[in-house]
Amino acid sequence: MIFTDVSDECIKCGKCIPTCTIHNVNADEVTSPRGFLDLLGAYQKGDLELDKNAKDIFESCFLCTACTEICPNDLPVDMVIEQVRNDIRKKYGLAWYKRAFFFLLRHRKIMDFMAKMGYVFQTCGFKIQEKQESMKPRFSLPIIKKDRFLPSAKSKTFLNSYPENINEKRKTKNEKRKRVAIFIGCLANYTYTNIGNSLVEILKSLNCDIFIPKKQLCCGAPAYFTGDFDTVDYLAKHNIEYFESFIDEVDAIIIPEATCSAMLKNDYLHYFHDQPKWQERVKKLNGKIFMATQWLEKETNLSEILEKKNKKMSQIVTYHDPCHAKKMQGIYKEPRNLIGKNYTIKEMDDPDKCCGFGGVTMQSEKFDLAFRAGLPKAAMIDESGADIVSAECSACRMQITNSLHYNDSKVIFKNPIELIANALKEKETD
Ligand code: SF4
Ligand code: SF4
Repeated sequence: MIFTDVSDECIKCGKCIPTCTIHNVNADEVTSPRGFLDLLGAYQKGDLELDKNAKDIFESCFLCTACTEICPNDLPVDMVIEQVRNDIRKKYGLAWYKRAFFFLLRHRKIMDFMAKMGYVFQTCGFKIQEKQESMKPRFSLPIIKKDRFLPSAKSKTFLNSYPENINEKRKTKNEKRKRVAIFIGCLANYTYTNIGNSLVEILKSLNCDIFIPKKQLCCGAPAYFTGDFDTVDYLAKHNIEYFESFIDEVDAIIIPEATCSAMLKNDYLHYFHDQPKWQERVKKLNGKIFMATQWLEKETNLSEILEKKNKKMSQIVTYHDPCHAKKMQGIYKEPRNLIGKNYTIKEMDDPDKCCGFGGVTMQSEKFDLAFRAGLPKAAMIDESGADIVSAECSACRMQITNSLHYNDSKVIFKNPIELIANALKEKETD
């Protein structure tokens, strides 16, 4: 992508600035969508060197896409930032713990072994401790001294907990059953395994045949946001080829994760903009790839089943809209429609506001920024008066759970799939 093409299209209206996550925590023109585009244009023309200062600036974008949603010229600020991060990676390389993490994402068996030993996701974790003590990034502010609430890996992953095919009941003659594949995502596979278990329970109650594709690999989002395009290429091509091998035998591939879904459906298209044959293959698959609540709400009678229960659970739920669900895929009604059948929903002030997760670099070297972006979200969740905050995204879960912890909040986090499965269980015990 030519940076000047995007930069020249910026009319400097500034509409994006109030919505910008990094600008809200670091009110400086250089850390705003308009500023990023200006600098990228200068870099393309050779007027700006990609030095450590520029690297620091370009790595401070949260890739939340709030700016792209509001921009009158639809400028893809997130895409050009992802692109320049690839140039940064080529020039400076990657920190050892990022290289180790991305290596594990490519090698499922070793990752599974590491998970068993309890190491996955802690590779970044202990580095954070070290970095906070030793590094003084340009935008550094002190953070409250409190242990971070990091998720730990389960000894048995979701993918290793089930057979490849789950067909509970024998088909009766002429019965047409939906066959659904689950793409689980790394955080739900290794850490928040109850999401996948809940999805299996829901699909069983809908009498679907379930296919758990064992050779699926990470969607590549952590590497894409960090600019490691070699890893993205490897993971994306592996997943595309693998999906093609079974796509005609399933009705849908469903994903209980906004970031993974947006990566497979939207970002693969962006990534392959200069590899048209691969882009075409992504387009063909896209018709059958859905976020879990989107498919469950539109393609099944789950909504009716939940409605018929005619039972309200006692907990109040507030729903956070993951950037990769609402802004990138337009999905926000579907989870609310399903949850709302059995729970009281109380909206927080600004469900759209980014939680401040931001990716691997933000969660490690620049955690002070993620911390500052997360506190207003935690405060508005608390002010909503809800018992549970829900979002169909485990990256949001990791960030929001930690922000709530810093806020001494009692609100707990649940994926909507877990809430729906709990409501369905209630039915059985009624
Ligand atoms: S993607 Fe988000 S953080 Fe980055 S420039 Fe746009 S609004 Fe700001
Ligand atoms: S809204 Fe778009 S055109 Fe306006 S300043 Fe921001 S990036 Fe430029």
